[in-house]
Amino acid sequence: MNMKLVCCLSSFVLAAAMSAAGAGQTFKMDEKAYVPFDATTTVTVECPDSAAAGWLTAHLKEWYGDYAPKVVAGQLSTLNSQLSTSPEAYAASADASGVKIAANTLAGVRWASYTLRQLAIAKRGTVKTEGMILPTLSITDAPHLAFRAIHLCWFPETRPEQIERAIRLAALLKFNYAIIEPWGMYKSEKHPWRAWPDAPMTKAETTRLVALGRDLGITLIPQLNCYGHASLSRRSTIKHSALDIHYEYEPLFEPGGWNWCLSNPETQRVLREMIAELHENFGNPPFFHLGCDEANAQTCPECVKTPNHELVVRHIAGLSEFVKSRGAKAMIWHDMFLDKADPRWKEFVKHGGPMAPQLLDALPKDIIICDWQYSYGNMKESRKDWPTIGYFKEKGFPVAGCPWMNYNAMKPMADYLAANGGFGFIETTWHRLRGKEWEQMFMSAARAAWGSPVSHGVSFERSLRMIGTDMKVSDYLDTGHLNNQVPHRWWGD
Ligand SMILES: [Zn+2]
Repeated sequence: MNMKLVCCLSSFVLAAAMSAAGAGQTFKMDEKAYVPFDATTTVTVECPDSAAAGWLTAHLKEWYGDYAPKVVAGQLSTLNSQLSTSPEAYAASADASGVKIAANTLAGVRWASYTLRQLAIAKRGTVKTEGMILPTLSITDAPHLAFRAIHLCWFPETRPEQIERAIRLAALLKFNYAIIEPWGMYKSEKHPWRAWPDAPMTKAETTRLVALGRDLGITLIPQLNCYGHASLSRRSTIKHSALDIHYEYEPLFEPGGWNWCLSNPETQRVLREMIAELHENFGNPPFFHLGCDEANAQTCPECVKTPNHELVVRHIAGLSEFVKSRGAKAMIWHDMFLDKADPRWKEFVKHGGPMAPQLLDALPKDIIICDWQYSYGNMKESRKDWPTIGYFKEKGFPVAGCPWMNYNAMKPMADYLAANGGFGFIETTWHRLRGKEWEQMFMSAARAAWGSPVSHGVSFERSLRMIGTDMKVSDYLDTGHLNNQVPHRWWGD
């Protein structure tokens, strides 16, 4: 086989140059000329981070066992000269002389290794894998956007394994942040009444996931809903993760429990304690998401004594200041800052009243506005301009564009963010992290945020299987993109 592969190299053709590559991206691959990627292969790495070769050695061993290529640190001046200045850029090549990776940071080495892993397939002709093969290739690559996040919701119905699978898969698709929103699933030691009984997101499990993410190159960011959505449940269910079982905490919430009570000083104290606990448990990441979407006007007799926008500004500014004191930046959803009646936002997600502009103007300008725009009613839209993102940017805020299942809108949104100095891109997934939608959300968002098909998109199916293997998945329910292939009710009596 090796002889055949070497012969093929003489007719090396740049068969798969992708026209869609963006700045700093080139991709040449010859799928007719595979080379070994096994224990006979040497991977030469040039990276200023001395930890890079060790990280790569450990992970190739994890993925390929006894058939792992060996790794050496070395000088790769030709490849290195092709690197863009992005901290996450990498260049990689594979041919008969071996595999080479040049990167500016360990992050770049990680992305290079993920690209190679996605392109490698098992060597042919044996029962079990005895080494991999790679198409002859030459790649230079760099991300479109520096902040690329997946937003993951941990529901009572979510298997803990599903959260780990989603984190691992997001890293493999080169997202560098994952915002974790526990829906009553975080077992706070300080305020255990806040979570559903037996919540699985314990301190130890959180620490484990954060460390896993760090190793894989994806930073986990905690989310705590600090205004609306205080039930930590979908509104249509009228469930409440605190009040349904601990009704005695009613004074902390507005009647009904959807909002926190903002005039109660205990609310701010409790929330700060929860923020501190979560932030510390997440390893003090550089961001903290305060939620704040879909809030209603305050209704309790104390809150209504103060104009609503004043209460809200005081509340959010206080919490963002607290987040800042911990060395992080606060993120919040955007919708209360766009006036529903303003014709400019007719086709966009908005949930604010007439005081929305004043509310926005009074907010500290270092809060990152997460502008979730879902193209309601027109999922096929492919708009090129994003006036709400432009509006928040003009007001002086860092802005993240946040799509959901509006797949066609993702690339134009990422392009708009890149061209207009946007802060970053957050793919939201909510309760749709399963089945074909999971695949479409992750794949479309990865392509949009990274900027081209160069870096990923090889196969969702193979990628899912790789991370399942990394997790040593053995339960049927944790395979594929659905727990079950036939609905249980089909077998009902
Ligand atoms: Zn109140």
